[in-house]
Formats: sequence, structure tokens, C-alpha cells
Amino acid sequence: LFPIHVIGAGLAGSEAAWQVAETGVPVVLHEMRPLRMTEAHLTEGCAELVCSNSFRSDDAETNAVGLLHAEMRRCASLIMSSGDAHKVPAGGALAVDRVGFSDAVTDALTRHPLIEIRRGEVDGIPPGDWDSVIVATGPLTSQALSEAVRGLTDEDSLAFFDAIAPIVYKETIDFSKAWFQSRYDKAGPGGTGADYINCPMNKEQYDAFVDALLGGEKAEFRDWEKDTPYFDGCLPIEVMAERGRETLRHGPMKPVGLTNPHDPEVKSYAIVQLRQDNALGTLYNMVGFQTKLKYGVQAEIFRTIPGLENAEFARLGGLHRNTFLNSPRLLDGSLRLKAMPRLRFAGQITGVEGYVESAAIGLLAGRFAAAERLGLNSVPPPETTALGALLRHITGGHLSADDAGRSFQPMNVNFGLFPPIEVPKVPGKRLRGKEKTRARKAAMSARALADIDGWLGRRQAAE
Ligand code: FAD
Repeated sequence: LFPIHVIGAGLAGSEAAWQVAETGVPVVLHEMRPLRMTEAHLTEGCAELVCSNSFRSDDAETNAVGLLHAEMRRCASLIMSSGDAHKVPAGGALAVDRVGFSDAVTDALTRHPLIEIRRGEVDGIPPGDWDSVIVATGPLTSQALSEAVRGLTDEDSLAFFDAIAPIVYKETIDFSKAWFQSRYDKAGPGGTGADYINCPMNKEQYDAFVDALLGGEKAEFRDWEKDTPYFDGCLPIEVMAERGRETLRHGPMKPVGLTNPHDPEVKSYAIVQLRQDNALGTLYNMVGFQTKLKYGVQAEIFRTIPGLENAEFARLGGLHRNTFLNSPRLLDGSLRLKAMPRLRFAGQITGVEGYVESAAIGLLAGRFAAAERLGLNSVPPPETTALGALLRHITGGHLSADDAGRSFQPMNVNFGLFPPIEVPKVPGKRLRGKEKTRARKAAMSARALADIDGWLGRRQAAE
């Protein structure tokens, strides 16, 4: 069998290489470190954790990343087995000894008889005789390769910065204050004229909000992030607020073309709009609210917005260097680049966020590539699973490539990505609030674990 080439021995590439080799297909794993380092990596180890040492919650029952851990363990993930072998006490989270973890991954890959680790940068489109390639070069993909990939796509399809607006679970928005309406009731393509959620502010609330933004503690840019021209078209809201007290009212918070049905006589002084963020309509992003405010500060300030007092955030806003593709436009359902299907993508560069999510997409890319090499059908995991829900987020699911691509932003795994489920009834009890949310998550987790087992069983039967 010809080898599959995996570029990048980070979280995704290490997992992808392992998954391929475990099916009996040989792998060449290309890693540029230590010959060429990124701005964040410090070692030559595989799967180096560049910042925190946490894989986040390990609670598979009520936490989506915990569920992803559980599914990956069932798929014999190298990242998870190495993490489990080197865990350190961290309450309900899975945190690891970063050196022990990276050494374990490096060692397993080095010892595998079907894996060759080749050190060196891949600095352009991989040669034509590499007929199956997984590109897993991460948020800090080397410049030469980024340029080459950009040449295969188009200017707008490869981003170099995350400008992330916070994303809210719709069910936590208070609709006794908020309402659905598009500006001037305009129905765009596929729209209804009531596509946005609007949260109104009076002058007093707006002034207090601007003061809070101006006083809020900001996350610092790293030295190497300072020179990147991220400001074009995506100014953080606190920077807009610094430019003048009225700037936000004339920008993302402008109150025109909207009428508050709860109080039609009163004109709002400013309005925050939220736009649907996923096909299921469970998540909404705060339009134009990209920010460098620290996470805790964001949650506190944004909950002063009428209607968002009890908002739960699927993710908070951010702004940092991150190379990622507009995957819903560019990739097919098995992560292949439509413009050059011998190239598959995996990890953070596909628009997932986080160590575990990156490794999860590596796991899927590895399995898809191996199945293809072996002439087997590669069935994607059901969208009711964490693996399937993540895959659907980055490949656009049932939305058209254009619709999904229009507002594509990197994302951690979260329950908002899963198809809805009926909350199981408890005899003699009416579940409400947090209890109900917890029951819904537990039901989603149970469904996911049953479905991942079914998927693995079916695959084994097919193989
Ligand atoms: P990486 O793990 O970065 O792996 C990519 C690999 O490709 C690297 O080893 C790199 O050397 C190699 N490479 C790049 N270009 C080439 C080339 N041309 N040829 C050969 N090899 C190449 N996520 C979290 O969950 N928690 C955090 O605390 C966290 N902190 C982060 C901090 C920073 C500064 C950054 C940039 C990201 C952070 N992330 C964090 C996000 C993300 O989850 C990690 O970056 C994760 O490592 C991504 O996995 P990956 O496999 O896609 O990329």
C-alpha cells in the first residue's frame, strides 16, 4: 500500500497518523519542528500543548467536550489514551502533565512499525505523487504552506484571524424583552423578515454599557500578534467605544428600522442584534461584538443587556491569530478539499477550536483517508454524536455551502450543535430551568454514546 502523508504532528496530525496506521495503512508524518518552529511551540515533541494543559471537562453526561472525550476513547484515540495515562488532579476536568503527555504520543508514533516521522517543512502544494494527504498544520501553519493553500482557494476563504463574536444559547434569552425582527423587516434570501433577535436599550442602559466596556479588563495581544492587520472591518467593540460614546449606536448597535413590540411607542436608544448561528437555530451570535475583553468581564457586561440577563454563552468573543479555512465552502463531507480532493484537512485549520476538537477532527480525517485507501465506504458518524455534530459544523451539514460559509466561525464542541431532543419525562415532576437543561444534556449524551457504538459496530461489520 502507498503511504498516506500527514503534514503536522500536532494534536490533529498525531491522532490522524495513529488512526491510519492502526488500520494497517502506512503513514509518513511530516513535522517542521525543530528545524522550523512556530511562534508558540517550544519543543520538538508531537502533540505539544502550546498553552493550557487542560482538555476541559471530563463529564460525559452533561458536558459536550466530556462527551467528545468518551466518544474518542471508544474510537481508540491515541490523544485520549496518552492524556488518561498522564492526567494530573484537576477536579472534574481532564488536565495532563504536558511533557509526559507529549512524550507518550511521540513515543507511540515513533514505535509504530507503519509510521515514519519525517522532519521538515512542507512549503508548498504537496508533490503530485502524494496521492492522499492530510494537512493538519494548525492555527500557526507556516507562511509558505498558507500561501500555497490560499492559491488553491481564494482570498476570502483562508482567514488569519479569529474575530469572534459571543454566541448565546437561544433558550436562555428572555423574550419578554427581546423580539425577532430584521431591520426594516427585510427578508433576504431564504429569510422571513424576522431573522434577528433584538435586545433594546434606553439611554441610561447604553451609557452604563459603554462605561463598562471602557473600564473592562482586556486580554493582551502576544508580541507576534501585534503586527497583524486584523483591524480591517473587525474592530473590537471596546475599541469602537473608545472612539466615541456614540460610535456603537451608529455601528453594530444602531436602533433604526426596528420597533420593539413590547413597547411600540418608545424609541430604543440602541439595539443589540443577534443572528442565527447554526442550522438548528439553537445558537445566536451577537452581531459585531468581537472583543478582546477577558471572558469573565464579557459575561458580566453582556448580561446587563436587556433580554440577556440570564444568557448562557456557547462561546465568548475573542480576537487572535488563527489560520483557518472557510470549510463549509471548501471541504466535502469527508474533509477533502473540493478543489483538490487528494488533500484532506484536519484540526484547528478546519475551523474547530481547542485541543480536543482538533484531535477529534484528526481522528475522523485519519479514518476517512484509511477507508478510502482500503477501498471501503467511509460512513460519517451520525450527527447526534459529538464527532458527527462537529463534522457537520465544519462541513456545513444540510445548509448550502454558501449559506454555511457566509458566517462561518471556529467553534468548540457544544450541545447547541446537536439535533434537539425531547427532555425525558420524570413521573410526578415538572422539570424547569437548570434541571431541565441538565436532563436535556444527559439525554443527548446517552443518545450520542448509543449512536457512536452503533456507528463503530457498523463500520467493523463493513470492514
Ligand atoms: P497544532 O497542534 O498547532 O499542530 C500543527 C503542527 O503542524 C505543529 O506541530 C506545527 O509545527 C506543524 N506545521 C505547521 N506548518 C507546517 C508545515 N508547513 N510543514 C510541516 N509541519 C508544519 N486550545 C486549547 O484547547 N487550549 C488552549 O489553551 C489553547 N491555547 C492556544 C494558544 C495559542 C497561542 C494558539 C495559537 C492556540 C491555542 N489553542 C488552545 C487552540 C488549538 O486547540 C491548539 O492550537 C491545537 O494545538 C490545535 O491543534 P492542531 O493539530 O490543529 O495544530
